[in-house]
Amino acid sequence: MEFVDRELKCIDCGAEFVFTAGEQAFFHERQLTNDPKHCKQCTATLAAEQKAAIAHRWHDTLKESYVLQLMLDLRERQEREKRGGSVQPLHRH
Ligand SMILES: [Zn+2]
Repeated sequence: MEFVDRELKCIDCGAEFVFTAGEQAFFHERQLTNDPKHCKQCTATLAAEQKAAIAHRWHDTLKESYVLQLMLDLRERQEREKRGGSVQPLHRH
């Protein structure tokens, strides 16, 4: 199948960009039937934003599990105190 360069318009910034024959072949190979909707600049921006969002979420997850661990440590300590046993110092990580 032959591909020719096509001019497309970015739905974000309205800039015209070339959907090259090579890119079309790439899309075709992967059975992607939709044309790209963003220029290279916007695609790069979107990708960066997505990456940042994922990194941010991951950071939140780490923070949550850290807080959870602290709460568990505290509860364990309180349980031990309630039982009246000797209080062991919290183990350090
Ligand atoms: Zn754009």
